[in-house]
Amino acid sequence: MKAVVWNGKRDMRIENVPDPSIVNPHDAIVKVTSTAICGSDLHLYNGLIPGMKPGDIMGHEFMGEIVAAGQACEQVKTGDRVIVICSISCGRCWFCKQDLFSACDNTTPASAGAALELAYGHAGASLFGYSHLYGGYSGGQAEYVRVPFADVGCVPVPAHVSDEQALFLTDVFPTGYMAAENCNITLGDTICVFGAGPVGQFAIKSAFMLGAEKVISVDAVSERLSLAAEQGAIVVDERHGDVIPRIDDLTGGRGPDAVIDAVGMEAHGTGVLGVYDRVKHAARLETDRPTALRNAIMVCRKGGTVSIPGVYGGLIDKFPMGAAFGKGLRLTMGQTHFHRYARPLLARVEAGEIDPSFIITHRVKLDDLPAAYATFNDKADGCIKVVATL
Ligand SMILES: [Zn+2]
Ligand SMILES: [Zn+2]
Repeated sequence: MKAVVWNGKRDMRIENVPDPSIVNPHDAIVKVTSTAICGSDLHLYNGLIPGMKPGDIMGHEFMGEIVAAGQACEQVKTGDRVIVICSISCGRCWFCKQDLFSACDNTTPASAGAALELAYGHAGASLFGYSHLYGGYSGGQAEYVRVPFADVGCVPVPAHVSDEQALFLTDVFPTGYMAAENCNITLGDTICVFGAGPVGQFAIKSAFMLGAEKVISVDAVSERLSLAAEQGAIVVDERHGDVIPRIDDLTGGRGPDAVIDAVGMEAHGTGVLGVYDRVKHAARLETDRPTALRNAIMVCRKGGTVSIPGVYGGLIDKFPMGAAFGKGLRLTMGQTHFHRYARPLLARVEAGEIDPSFIITHRVKLDDLPAAYATFNDKADGCIKVVATL
């Protein structure tokens, strides 16, 4: 079969690889019909996540049709049209039973688990196509994928919901939604969202769905700000200087009730701290560049919440702990518990409350994905979200 294969930093290729097969009775094989590139795939593209090996198959946002199901599968069967949730969870360990699916104890192999435990204290759930640190499972930017624990990770999609409407339930929609839910929004709140990529856009949409009165969107890319404005957000363009006084002005000097950092570790900082981050990052003395996170903490109102769906991988410097403590902020973060949200959000899509396809800017074929990585990485050609159909 054909697949998008990682061969090194900024080196994605279409290659012919062996078809996957069932290796565990809980597996299913999915024939992919649609797959997307995620912002977090760019961390792999740019060689920032350790544990990638040449030959690894990319992709964790995909859906398709089940063409084979292991003997232990009870909820899904051959012929089902499904989305596949991007993290792999067993559904039966202590964490899965608490609805903390991304903390699953059973899907990260011992070899990867040892590295994660060294770095993080404990290993969590694996991800499709996201390095050997996260289990080394082959991803879905391919014609076929092996899906472990298929009963838990596959969610059937009714025929009247299109691929484009369902695909983002695998990752970015639940991620934006949980980020907004973590803000404990009450009617009339003002929410500020740093980053207007796909997760930021879904965070904006979800904040309104959960009762926010005003949403402020901060970014430095015109197309992203335009899309945020179309959704009803007030936009703040980072290219026009320091964003903090402008956000202060928009909230009567009080600051937003909650701030969402949908940027993560690859922020492009400006000013003295931006230079500091670039130097320390280049010298490998800092793994992550936390410009958005620092701004989020500095601009949030006293007693407010900073919610962090943006991905961080390691250590950060100049974290304004004094400001966070002095203002009594609540910090909430982490990998989304996708399985908790996919079905309820699918119901909202079915009910016509939201059409998630609004973020798609580029529609391509599987063969075009290596080139599309470069376009997306450069934020060229107005690129916000790439979807490939097979
Ligand atoms: Zn993703
Ligand atoms: Zn589990």
